[in-house]
Amino acid sequence: MDQQNIMYLPGVGPKKAEVLRRELDMVSWEDLIYYFPYKYIDRSKIFTIREINGSMPYIQLRGKIHHYETLGEGSARRLTAVFYDGTGNIELVWFRNIKQIQNTYKVGTEYILFGKPTLFSHRLNIAHPELETEDKFFQGEVGIQGQYNTTEKMKNAFLHSRAIQRLIAAVLENIKSPLPETLNKEIIEQAHLINLDEAIRNIHFPKSPDLLRKAQYRLKFEELFYLQLNILRVTKYREKRLGGFVFQRVGEYFNRFYHQNLPFELTNAQKRVIKEIRQDMNNGRQMNRLLQGDVGSGKTLVALLSMLIALDNGFQAALMAPTEILATQHYETIKELLQGLDVEVSILTGSTKKKEREKLLPALKEGKIQILIGTHALIEGPVEFHNLGMVVIDEQHRFGVAQRAKLWKKNAIQPHILVMTATPIPRTLAMTLYGDLDVSVIDELPPGRKPVKTIHVYSAKRNNLYESVRKQLQQGRQVYIVYPLIEESEKMDLKNLTEGFEITKEIFPEYQVCMIHGKMKSAEKEAEMQKFVSGETQIMVATTVIEVGVNVPNASVMIIENAERFGLSQLHQLRGRVGRGADQSFCILLTKYELSENTRKRMSIMTETNNGFIIAEEDLKLRGPGDIDGTQQSGIAFNLKIANLSHDGQILQLARDMAQQVLEADPLLQQSQHAVLNQQLKKLNQNRQMGWFMIS
Ligand code: ADP
Ligand code: MG
Repeated sequence: MDQQNIMYLPGVGPKKAEVLRRELDMVSWEDLIYYFPYKYIDRSKIFTIREINGSMPYIQLRGKIHHYETLGEGSARRLTAVFYDGTGNIELVWFRNIKQIQNTYKVGTEYILFGKPTLFSHRLNIAHPELETEDKFFQGEVGIQGQYNTTEKMKNAFLHSRAIQRLIAAVLENIKSPLPETLNKEIIEQAHLINLDEAIRNIHFPKSPDLLRKAQYRLKFEELFYLQLNILRVTKYREKRLGGFVFQRVGEYFNRFYHQNLPFELTNAQKRVIKEIRQDMNNGRQMNRLLQGDVGSGKTLVALLSMLIALDNGFQAALMAPTEILATQHYETIKELLQGLDVEVSILTGSTKKKEREKLLPALKEGKIQILIGTHALIEGPVEFHNLGMVVIDEQHRFGVAQRAKLWKKNAIQPHILVMTATPIPRTLAMTLYGDLDVSVIDELPPGRKPVKTIHVYSAKRNNLYESVRKQLQQGRQVYIVYPLIEESEKMDLKNLTEGFEITKEIFPEYQVCMIHGKMKSAEKEAEMQKFVSGETQIMVATTVIEVGVNVPNASVMIIENAERFGLSQLHQLRGRVGRGADQSFCILLTKYELSENTRKRMSIMTETNNGFIIAEEDLKLRGPGDIDGTQQSGIAFNLKIANLSHDGQILQLARDMAQQVLEADPLLQQSQHAVLNQQLKKLNQNRQMGWFMIS
């Protein structure tokens, strides 16, 4: 019954049905009743015009339209009306559907108005209010009111929030019997949930604030429960299926390196993580571990020690980085660290010469090369290992799941995988995105680091800034100047960047400046980068291409132009490029003076903390999970209708625990009390809106 088409609902018809399908992918009754309000408004109160001000949210008034007036021409054309209620009057304004509005709402009739007052050139007005005669006001609309998101096209088809609500009311009225339950009895009892029918009815038409909360709880729980059930099932399947190499020994390579070569004491966090990795590589299952650690937390050493364990057990290891610059840096660092240890290390990238390649490939196949470092060249073409036992992937979010999977295919038994990322991911998100990975965290920086000082400066005051920067340059430091470059405004952005380059040269004529951006050829980019790495240039003007992993310890200043255009995580990543040496480093966030509240918050978080995890949590709160780096590439795309990973961590934990319990008792969901779970999971996995897919 709930699969019935919405086209036949009163007042819908083919045209509106088509708009709903195109805009919201909404076809059936079920789609409609699972379209939840994004917020609620208390409609029990009617204000007077005298009481209202521009900082109020949506409010209701009772009054009449005095007269209409059409103003402006072309795109500025608009309809205004004066609305009065005996305590005062207020202007109403419409930019669309001018004719229909005038025909629909009569001068002199009493209406209940619903809208948001805004202050516009010192006068209050309400744009696109909803108007309704009192007798049309049906039950349920006077109490707590759900507000539904609608698009521009929907509004043009008169499918505004109120209309959606009416359609939902019609459907719920038609569904007389209770909606079939989608969770089993045990779970409903254990988690203290209300039943589905009550939840759906109250999420749309709350009978009381208490029932609304219970409805939200039930629906959030259910959403997160199925998400976790899905992920955990994949994980369980993988655990069962994928045996791994057993690395029992910690032998000479590891020990000699640890006791002779290690230039410093490991941090406690590094020690803990290495222990976790050792256990993983010794339990007979393939390791799939995500290593999170803020920039500069010393992930490279952890990677190297893990690879040495592979060597100690007679296996080869590989380390894969997202760019040639990074691969080269890793290669040099690791060679240096391994001095005197008699380990064969090689590098393979896109620009490895044919001759070298011809030498390298057979040596790799024979097992003479023990550690291979490189870019994706490692998993492309004819690269064959003798016995690859362990792979480290650095800066995970540049590699998709598909590439990870490709690596695995090289062996009959898949190598252990350690994925390293400097983009900290909040725990709730990690549990959801990387449910298939175990997570280790390095939450401690090596001692003696000076935290980067971050300062927010208005662009208008940039002149003072340049003098401080000059002082740094005079002390032999290097400077990054970063410009935003996004696809939508690429031309303008490139122009700003090249202008910035020219201006920088003028301001600092005594220094060498280089420039790098994503539109340059990769060889050209590398060459420019190399100039900066070697110290030939002192200032680098760049886009975010420098974001990942580049290590120039002498660079102690980063200026970020138009910092308001960057997200928190991205700003934090960029900032990680400085503060790598012994000197005090600075990150300057340049913005215009007028900023939105959200942007101001971002700037103040950046100046207040260097902790990547706090920043990641804040980022999740400000932007939602869809925009967080790595969400798209994580392999599990998901679309949460009601739960919010930044607020519902506790519900998520409970849902995960209960999903775990169910699967432990009944891994294949074959028991009769779990039939409903099995059925619902199948249905969700078929539903393209969920966008779930299994990692193979
Ligand atoms: P990231 O986690 O960003 O990849 P790196 O591995 O590049 O960090 O380490 C950053 C710097 O810190 C390197 O110069 C490295 O030699 C140094 N380092 C790593 N671990 C320690 C430690 N335990 N004590 C002191 N310095 C360390
Ligand atoms: Mg690194």
